[in-house]
Amino acid sequence: MQAKNQKIVVLGTGGTIAGVSASANEGLAYKAAQRGIDDLLEVALGHQKHWPEALSDYQFDSEQVAQLDSKDMDFETWMHLAQRCEHWLSQSNVAGLVITHGTDTLEETAYFLSHVLSTAKPIVLTCAMRPANFKDADGPQNLRDAMLLAATTHELGVCLVAAGEIHHSQYVQKVHPTRLNAFDSGETGMAGRVHNDRVEWLESFNSPKMTDKLRVSQLPPASKWPWVEIVMNHVNASALHIEALVQAGVKGLVVAGTGNGSMSTKLKQSLVLAQKAGVQIRLSTRCNQGSVIPTESHIFDATSGLSPVKTRVALMLDMMSQLQSH
Ligand code: ASP
Repeated sequence: MQAKNQKIVVLGTGGTIAGVSASANEGLAYKAAQRGIDDLLEVALGHQKHWPEALSDYQFDSEQVAQLDSKDMDFETWMHLAQRCEHWLSQSNVAGLVITHGTDTLEETAYFLSHVLSTAKPIVLTCAMRPANFKDADGPQNLRDAMLLAATTHELGVCLVAAGEIHHSQYVQKVHPTRLNAFDSGETGMAGRVHNDRVEWLESFNSPKMTDKLRVSQLPPASKWPWVEIVMNHVNASALHIEALVQAGVKGLVVAGTGNGSMSTKLKQSLVLAQKAGVQIRLSTRCNQGSVIPTESHIFDATSGLSPVKTRVALMLDMMSQLQSH
């Protein structure tokens, strides 16, 4: 049993979970980020007929950290969110954090937070695929599941719970534009499930070994973060955009290669020139499962094992830590 003074803090950032559509029958055309975190909590807690035992001794606190559609998530908001997480996590009576977030870029935020916050306390992101006023909104249940997870999980790091599935920040990817269980952890698989207010961990899941990158306090202001873009190989891939990006001052490029990180000769040549000009290049794959297995034929660093969007965050953090150590 927890002491009565332990609390779970719920941070709101917007998304469909806070979205509103014109009617309770409209689940696809809506405006994200309309309802405040206190309203979402009131509905989630109000719907609870049998309050789970594991939560009954906790108090809850909330903070509206941002209110946006996560397609518009930006580095300033990330900094603010990471600072607010650090603030709450440093308090001894805070047992864990829940963050409500839009589904579109959730995996990037989760990955970012997992590398700038170092804590044994759970940080659980959650979201929804249907707006808050939809007749069968999924947000309230997801939020309750996230609070349960935050109250009962330790040492998992940053994770997501949605549609009863628990995914680790290292592996999770949004894989479907409309399905309720829109997330997947590829070959690694999900970490566990929440059913009927019970958390079930899958024995097959092994938590990844996380490498520390930078602490929030070591990050430069968002306006100084290195400019890193993603380019993709595809049929008849042109190199013109790479030349334009280098000209414009890009500092890093992530290649979403085909298959095991292959790319057209044209693309490769322009990336070699970019690298000579000082641009840092990382290789990933546009395949949505598995990761590049580095071989001698790879001339760019293919070791991230991450999706292109996460490789981009990893590269930015690496570049910022290189700057720190100089
Ligand atoms: N566009 C929304 C967002 O990412 C989608 C969602 O939350 O499902 O904020």
